[in-house]
Amino acid sequence: MAEHESLEFGKADFVLLDNVSMEEFMANLKLRFEKGRIYTYIGEVVVSVNPYRAMNIYGRDVIEQYKGRELYERPPHLFAIADAAYKAMKRRNKDTCIVISGESGAGKTEASKYIMQYIAAITNPNQRAEVERVKNMLLKSNCVLEAFGNAKTNRNDNSSRFGKYMDINFDFKGDPIGGHINNYLLEKSRVIFQQEGERSFHSFYQLLRGAPDSLLRSLHIQKDPKAIYIHCNSHMNFSCINDGADFKAVADAMKVIGFTGDEIQTVYKILATILHLGNLTFGVDGDVTLIENTKLVSVLRELLSTKEENVEKALLYRTVATGRDVIEKQHTTQEANYGRDALAKAMYERLFCWIVSRINDVIEVRNYDAKIHGKNTVIGVLDIYGFEIFQNNSFEQFCINYCNEKLQQLFIQLVLKQEQEEYQREGIPWKHIDYFNNQIIVDLVEQQHKGIFAVLDEACMNVGKVTDEVFLQGLNTKLAKHAHYTSRKLSPTDKSLEFDRDFRIRHYAGDVVYSVVGFIDKNKDTLFQDFKRLLYNRPTSQLPCICYFWCPGEYTPVVEEHIVAVYHHYSRKHWLVYKSTLCCSVQEPYYVRCVKPNDVKSPLLFEHERCRHQVEYLGLLENVRVRRAGFANRQTYPRFLQRYKMISEFTWPNHDLPSDKEAVKRLLQGCGFDHDVAYGKTKVFIRTPRTLFSLEEQRAEMV
Ligand code: ADP
Ligand code: MG
Repeated sequence: MAEHESLEFGKADFVLLDNVSMEEFMANLKLRFEKGRIYTYIGEVVVSVNPYRAMNIYGRDVIEQYKGRELYERPPHLFAIADAAYKAMKRRNKDTCIVISGESGAGKTEASKYIMQYIAAITNPNQRAEVERVKNMLLKSNCVLEAFGNAKTNRNDNSSRFGKYMDINFDFKGDPIGGHINNYLLEKSRVIFQQEGERSFHSFYQLLRGAPDSLLRSLHIQKDPKAIYIHCNSHMNFSCINDGADFKAVADAMKVIGFTGDEIQTVYKILATILHLGNLTFGVDGDVTLIENTKLVSVLRELLSTKEENVEKALLYRTVATGRDVIEKQHTTQEANYGRDALAKAMYERLFCWIVSRINDVIEVRNYDAKIHGKNTVIGVLDIYGFEIFQNNSFEQFCINYCNEKLQQLFIQLVLKQEQEEYQREGIPWKHIDYFNNQIIVDLVEQQHKGIFAVLDEACMNVGKVTDEVFLQGLNTKLAKHAHYTSRKLSPTDKSLEFDRDFRIRHYAGDVVYSVVGFIDKNKDTLFQDFKRLLYNRPTSQLPCICYFWCPGEYTPVVEEHIVAVYHHYSRKHWLVYKSTLCCSVQEPYYVRCVKPNDVKSPLLFEHERCRHQVEYLGLLENVRVRRAGFANRQTYPRFLQRYKMISEFTWPNHDLPSDKEAVKRLLQGCGFDHDVAYGKTKVFIRTPRTLFSLEEQRAEMV
């Protein structure tokens, strides 16, 4: 509640607004942003506005101020939330998680890094070597992940093009002993194509700008190459990015993490392979498709440690089974182009997954005892890329936006819905607060048989001539009546839809028109079998890490699988956390809601309409209303007594009142807290955290 903060900086908690209206909310948000107060609470939720300038609020001194403090004791800060999650985990031996959401460029990844830094700084007072090692790895891993998973986009110079869920494991002392990174939905299409003004993944430019000449020579790359995939010349130089220096930092970080020299070389070889693949062109001679630049074939052969004819075969032919026979069928140039791009994307994606798995190898909890004696708790930090609306939206945006719908649904379930339901169940007087429930959009995407994924999967399983257009017709037939779905065919006069190959979803965060082109391919993740053979079979490629890339296997809709994984992961995590909330104490997942103040990365500009829209779709106003009407803490009567009975003569050591409820009433009246609580059927509800902390203090004096 941070009341100590001067009012000239606005209200530190939106719950303290005089009137909960959009105007007041926005005025407070703007005032605080202008005064350099980028964090504001809604109860235990942190609202953060990207300052777009270096803030002097993350140093050692500030960390010390937050260490071990309660939320309301200091001005709002990420550190306070990190500390709260840490304390909750430690005190109650429960897993907690911090969910960071917001659109691209809103500051999610920076927030996740500050949270990790804070946790690293406040733990391991005894300087145990193994713990120091783990902390160092966790911090170093970011640098590597960002090199391979981030790119410059028009929204963010260092945009994460993958979702990240990082678990940090703690031992019974509360020190980090390991971790695990899950990565989701790497935007691999970026490898072969970038929109105007954007770049491919940093790793490519780092190699070109930072690698010593000898390395580049061995990779057959010129200093100023014409690499088609990355539009070299126009994209190489951005004053805000120092690729050359980053190359070195990343190589060092990889060494520290434990990548061997050979492994690092292999990584460079794969990056180079991808760049060379991009320059490969196909032509025809009569009916024969051929590779025009044959020199590149021997370069690829060398980089992949395989045979020249394997490379040619993989790029020009595919094996098809006709009845009993297996024949080799030549690609058309179009197929060959397509196959080359698919290979480049797949290689990069697998390279990324391999890097993540190598990082996981070294940060995984090692100590056998720690694993066995279940005293091992987790703080998870979720940083997934936010809602995206581009000029051209394709399958990737569809997946990302669907994930965000899911996240929003969980927020609704946890913060808005279940909270209100509990008050009703407990008979606490309560005026229902309306909010938009996006479940209907989630259903649109994932409903069995007629959701978009179901229609898409059906199309993908159908071996034959199912095109994107046929898929779209399927959608139009099944979803015509859905309130959040529109297509050109269904409303021919709709001006916002431009082609008959797109459809529109009314997302909770706004309308998005998706082009259906490529949906089937991308969902299937088609990759001609021969590529797998080229790279998977041990005798063909001598590079161990490349052999790891592919396992034999047929069609799996990769992206779908990822999303399902994301979802199960989120929901399982949240569900566990929530369950513990119901069972006992104040615990809940911690949220950081990031707002992007403008589209020009300016530290001065607070674009009102832009921000208002984010506040609206993040559901922040509803959040304030529920929070204001609600209670910070609830506990069953017996549990409350168990913890606090020693502070009242009426309840210590036992009470003789007719019920635990009566006893709790008596206790709280005695302490003068009666005005700040409500008595439900089975639980006592405490409105402000301060009351709880006073109780804790009194308890501490007694025990
Ligand atoms: P997101 O992950 O939400 O896409 P980032 O965390 O990458 O966004 O932030 C985008 C950019 O905004 C950063 O590269 C940085 O320049 C700036 N930024 C974000 N948060 C902060 C902060 N707390 N302090 C200073 N600059 C920030
Ligand atoms: Mg990010």
